[in-house]
Amino acid sequence: EAPHTKPVQAFETQCPFCSVQCKMELIEQEAMGRKTHLVNPIENPASEGRLCVKGMNAHQHALHRDRLLYPMVKVNGKFERISWEKALDLIKEKFTQIQQEDGLDALGVYGGGSLTNEEAYLLGKFARVALKTRHIDYNGRFCMSAAASAANKAFGVDRGLTNQLSEIPFTECIILAGTNVAECQPTLLPYFTRAKENGAYVIAIDPRETATTQLADLHLKIKPGMDAALVNGLLKVILEEGYVDQTFVEERTKGFKELEEHLSSVDLDHIADITGISVQHIREAATRFGRAKTGMVFTARGVEQQTHGYMGVRNFINLLLVTGKMGKAGCGYGAITGQGNGQGGREHGQKADQLPGYRSIENPEHRSYIARVWGIDEQDLPGQGVSAYEMMVKIHRREITGLLVMGSNPLVSNPNANLIEEGLKKLKFLVVIDLFVSETARLADLILPTSSYLEDEGTMTNLEGRVTLRPASRPCPGEVKHDWQILCEIARVLGKGKFFSFGSAEEIFDELRLASRGGVADYYGITYERLKREGGVYWPCPSPDHPGQARLFEHSFAHPDGKAEIMPVNNHFPNEQVNDDFPLYLTTGRVMTHYLTGVQTRRSHSLAARNFESFAEIHPKTAKKYGIEDQTLIRLESRRGSIIVRSKITSEIREDTVFVPMHWADLQNVNLITLDALDPICKMPGFKVCAVKISPLVI
Ligand code: SF4
Repeated sequence: EAPHTKPVQAFETQCPFCSVQCKMELIEQEAMGRKTHLVNPIENPASEGRLCVKGMNAHQHALHRDRLLYPMVKVNGKFERISWEKALDLIKEKFTQIQQEDGLDALGVYGGGSLTNEEAYLLGKFARVALKTRHIDYNGRFCMSAAASAANKAFGVDRGLTNQLSEIPFTECIILAGTNVAECQPTLLPYFTRAKENGAYVIAIDPRETATTQLADLHLKIKPGMDAALVNGLLKVILEEGYVDQTFVEERTKGFKELEEHLSSVDLDHIADITGISVQHIREAATRFGRAKTGMVFTARGVEQQTHGYMGVRNFINLLLVTGKMGKAGCGYGAITGQGNGQGGREHGQKADQLPGYRSIENPEHRSYIARVWGIDEQDLPGQGVSAYEMMVKIHRREITGLLVMGSNPLVSNPNANLIEEGLKKLKFLVVIDLFVSETARLADLILPTSSYLEDEGTMTNLEGRVTLRPASRPCPGEVKHDWQILCEIARVLGKGKFFSFGSAEEIFDELRLASRGGVADYYGITYERLKREGGVYWPCPSPDHPGQARLFEHSFAHPDGKAEIMPVNNHFPNEQVNDDFPLYLTTGRVMTHYLTGVQTRRSHSLAARNFESFAEIHPKTAKKYGIEDQTLIRLESRRGSIIVRSKITSEIREDTVFVPMHWADLQNVNLITLDALDPICKMPGFKVCAVKISPLVI
């Protein structure tokens, strides 16, 4: 504490920037007439009292002078202040007109994985009950859809980690595939360093050398997009060397015979050729994993954000199942979610194909249960819509003509951003609910100001499936309202107020509990009172006296027959290959100091100062070949557009690959050039691999 500083108040909160959900205390101080802030980490089971640089500075965006404080309407191309009453009337007029002219499904709703569980739940209900549209999806489609679909199919349920984080230090072999925890979830790194200290063998799979791969005993610097094929090589060795857990395979899985048959035609030299990983290294990795008594596999966007991301994750799950490394201490699968509520955001019905409790919108029993909870006629519940990017395509084709965006910046986060911008400009009415005038909000007809993590009470579910309560720390500034209040008020002016008569986040949570009851993500036994008392509770938690389930699948998987599904996976290749015109692979990712499209972190002066612009990592030999100097502006071009960023010459990247982070907009928006082909199963776009060319910027 500085000599003239005196504390004014302190409150407990939770970092909004990743799925670890680290707890902290924010202390407001006064020094020489000015307010300053101090952040202290608070002990909790996931972060163990750690905070990273993003958490330490999260308050800077929440307290930023650019925060929207009242509704704004666009008049003659400029935003003007408008009252809430007039804003709501305008929404009523425009939404009603659009649905009368173009049909109920002409309205779309686009949510986010940073919303609280209550807001994610209410947004799904709002789309289906207040707007009666089938078109709702959210940015989590780009975050977790491949891992979620793969886990659902293989295990019968999707929960990010099947085990607790605290088991990691006691496992013998760890595979980190396409995940850079050191930068993306820094407070998780000590779990892995402790595992190393305890003798674990760590294998990292990544086209780049990162702070995470430095921890590994073996770094497989794979060709982008070739993860599924690499795992076929690992499985081949595991079967050849006799590391299959026959008892586990027989008693707890199905599909092994088909996998065995499929692998008989896999040739290790061919795998080495197409993945860029030597046969020796494939053998080393497979042997280490196969003979370890305990082992865990973690995947993240590097494996998942591909046009065959679902298949890639399925093959990593095959690896765990054939070696019997599931349902035991130190054995399990983890999808390391990126978004602040990436886990909870996908459970409560803001996905096109889902209803709360991870129920299917196509299943008649599930539909009828949710219709009863919502008090509507089952016939009035719309059917399945389309995924996030497919909604953007529908907007471009003028099939969706009105859109409400909450907690997301789709103009920057979708692939092929030129098409997204063209589409959003065609909308008859765009409402954006945000903290700031984001790049998407710039295109809006109406912007509504919402509350930040410091003001918004609600529950969040971390990557382990542990539900916690984030308290509100300060009142909303200006005329700001919470997301849930905004939805309730829009529903009221649309004549649907009786379905949205909530007076608090807790009241919404109580309905969510009921809606999730009996579903795979069952929150029924979790209450605010319990969360305050216990700190956090794992789902599934079907009754108030249930302790919550920390480790899944100890005795049975969630399919009706209790067995997990093993599935043969082909050697998939990226949809877009390099050629003479576009000779390099582009892969994308994150840096430690920024979150998603940077709307919040680019406004934090401490975070922005560390990384204030985008860059392209280029290998020295590649840079020389294309005449590129270090720290100069370059153009990257794909079949869809071009961007301008600064070069960063480093031998940490493969010679055939360029890396650009995803947090910047406008000319630095890497999604102007990324690939918009989708995974056929989960509809994940192929963000992680496309073909580009690079050149020095000539002005
Ligand atoms: Fe914790 Fe993630 Fe926030 Fe960092 S960004 S403080 S790891 S929750």
